[in-house]
Amino acid sequence: MKFAITSKGDDKSNKLMQRMKMYLQDFELTLDEERPDIVISVGGDGTLLYAFHRFKYRLDQTAFVGVHTGHLGFYADWTPDEIEKLVIAIAKTPYQVVEYPLLEVIVRYKHGGVPSKFLALNESTVKGVEGTLVMDIEIKGQQFETFRGDGLCVSTPSGSTAYNKALGGAIIHPSINAIQIAEMASINNRVFRTVGSPLILPDHHTCMMKPVNQNDFIITIDHLQVLQRDVKSIQYRVSDEKIRFARFRPFPFWKRVRDSFIAD
Ligand code: NAD
Repeated sequence: MKFAITSKGDDKSNKLMQRMKMYLQDFELTLDEERPDIVISVGGDGTLLYAFHRFKYRLDQTAFVGVHTGHLGFYADWTPDEIEKLVIAIAKTPYQVVEYPLLEVIVRYKHGGVPSKFLALNESTVKGVEGTLVMDIEIKGQQFETFRGDGLCVSTPSGSTAYNKALGGAIIHPSINAIQIAEMASINNRVFRTVGSPLILPDHHTCMMKPVNQNDFIITIDHLQVLQRDVKSIQYRVSDEKIRFARFRPFPFWKRVRDSFIAD
């Protein structure tokens, strides 16, 4: 079996990464940075987001596992003192794999040209470059509302505990194939009106955002930020691709939510 390891880059994570590399090679696993069967991320959720984007070209052949060197993460749930146990479990393949939904983002341009396609593990946000964001929102081909406000956040179920949660969005179990649209400070008065609640769309519904008076937007894809100019539309839907996580022990999603936000 071939593995790759990514580290957050701090001293603690780098040392742990080196130890894991050594142990895994002792178990006859091969380090392969191009075509790994398993990717181990050492650091935090941000490190796993980075690892996902680094290896997204082979999602159907790679499983991810996260070790945290700071606080418990949603994707990084193994502790540094468990790594011997984890290495033995990895070496003893086959392991169980769970799949989580991803978000597909397609940006089309007014000048035509090739649309840009992105894949997000947590979420994608849209904000104007200056002033209020004004967007016509279409759901499943029908005009739904004209949004005015700071921005919009479209998240995956596993990303629903991240930025989406801070915006008052619901936490969605990752076994539900859906995306969620949450508002950022919408303008609501006698003239302008938005629904005001987060919306959850199933996998056969598409959300299309069409600019009303601006052309340029700041779009985030997880931790990445891209300036998109001359935008005609931004299309969001549940991706056909999924991320695969290697599971070596049960750690139910709702326990993870409780341990992260309430008490452990
Ligand atoms: P970061 O290091 O500032 O991470 C922000 C925090 O989000 C970390 O504590 C991390 O553990 C947590 N996090 C990431 N994914 C999570 C998830 N799926 N569930 C629960 N917590 C999660 O920034 P980064 O490493 O560049 O990560 C980018 C992420 O930060 C974005 O995908 C976004 O979700 C999040 N973010 C959150 C807010 C907010 O809550 N107000 C604002 C901006 C970005």
